[in-house]
Amino acid sequence: MERERRLTLRLPDLLAIPLVGHFLRWRHARTSAQAVLLLAALMLLYDGFFGPPLAPKNLAGVLPWVHWRGFVVLSLLLLGNWFCFACPFLLPRRLAQRWFRPRLAWPHWLPGKWVAVLLLLLFFWAYEAFDLWASPLLTAWVALAYFVGAFVVDGLFRGAAFCKHVCPIGQFNFMGSLLSPTQVTIRNPAVCTSCRTKDCIRGRFSPQGTLLQRGCELGLFQPRKVGNLDCTFCLDCVHACPYGNVGIRFRLPLLDELDPERNRSGIGPLASRTDWLTLVVGLTAIGFLNAFGMVSPIYRFLSWLSRVLGTSNERVLIAIFFTGGLAILAAAVIGASWLTSRLARRGSTGWVASRFAYTLAPLGFGMWAAHYLFHFFTGALTIVPLFQSFAYDLTGRALLGVPDWRLASLLSLQTTGDLVVVVLGLGAAGSLLWTLWLGRKEGFTLAALLPWIVVHASLFLFGVWLLGQPMEMRGTLLG
Ligand code: SF4
Ligand code: SF4
Repeated sequence: MERERRLTLRLPDLLAIPLVGHFLRWRHARTSAQAVLLLAALMLLYDGFFGPPLAPKNLAGVLPWVHWRGFVVLSLLLLGNWFCFACPFLLPRRLAQRWFRPRLAWPHWLPGKWVAVLLLLLFFWAYEAFDLWASPLLTAWVALAYFVGAFVVDGLFRGAAFCKHVCPIGQFNFMGSLLSPTQVTIRNPAVCTSCRTKDCIRGRFSPQGTLLQRGCELGLFQPRKVGNLDCTFCLDCVHACPYGNVGIRFRLPLLDELDPERNRSGIGPLASRTDWLTLVVGLTAIGFLNAFGMVSPIYRFLSWLSRVLGTSNERVLIAIFFTGGLAILAAAVIGASWLTSRLARRGSTGWVASRFAYTLAPLGFGMWAAHYLFHFFTGALTIVPLFQSFAYDLTGRALLGVPDWRLASLLSLQTTGDLVVVVLGLGAAGSLLWTLWLGRKEGFTLAALLPWIVVHASLFLFGVWLLGQPMEMRGTLLG
């Protein structure tokens, strides 16, 4: 553990880098980043409700499904959870907190991540069942519902209830941030040991008792915070600490996150959190199912399913497809856990699952990243004609030039195809290394780890097969 911390502490601190650090330490850095994304969201809403119905020609049909998703995974892999930092949904929510001064605690009968897990399942079913990517109007309604949801939840419940318990995007980002190369963390443990006020969690108050700066609303106490889970990169702790002892350190991805038994501030040991475990397994399964939904064999599979079940209701078929996919991965996790516990002659099936199932996270996120980056690299340049067309629709004049709808790909199809397989491969390598690390920690033989290696290898090969299939070019006129 000490070696891990030393490795973390030796790497540079983003806040110490000129200009970037200066901007991030600025009190209004987050608000200004949120304002930029709020402007983009307002344009998306306007175009979604009033713009052209053809998705590739509408901001709501392209920005969220091509650009935003691409930027989110790129940011998580290369920088950190910077979407949550700049999240526009939290600006109206701040008004709700100011107006309603929420006092209610989040209901204890809705603990942890269960609401978010249900919403994630519902969202991805709706995404396929209602072809959300092809409907700017439905996309705009989803975005509006998100704003309203954040406003209502945080207007009723104190703390960051929406981010911690409800937001599906946030949970996706938390899982991806396991692989991120940065982490909000303390600079010098000795300073925290002698600190009496603990402003980073309690907040800073004036002598009259007025709150001057919030502490961590997610309940992460800096000296005991481990890794990135539940951290929205809001930087409240950075501003609250009176000693400037909180930084944003570069780190070796995954290194701080490996031990599911380690006690994490605000979370506890992951090994005791069935909600986190379900989230990781569920997001991994949906990552593969969602990618399956964009390749041509899905149509053959659904028509076969339709014949077998005697129903042509696509929404029912997609629900069965999702349920079946989730059940297969859950069965694989239970089977691998049972086999490992037998081969290692140690622990129960549940004990092994509550530790080793987390090793799916890098591979699961690798699949998401490969999928989203495919759409990003094949459709990123559509942003140029889209904004030209948006300006024309708004003003009746070609203020930004005449749209050239042939503009789409940032990289060739061949390069994109190779790149996304590499991304998936890196995820698989992360899962394998995590499995080996856990096996070594528990004193398991390689033979006892084989069931997990087989699960990871099977998922990886399935992912490579998926990425090799002809895909829909969503968000472009080729889609
Ligand atoms: S991070 Fe700052 S406020 Fe929090 S315990 Fe350490 S020194 Fe105190
Ligand atoms: S205040 Fe909490 S959620 Fe925000 S950056 Fe600090 S640790 Fe992360």
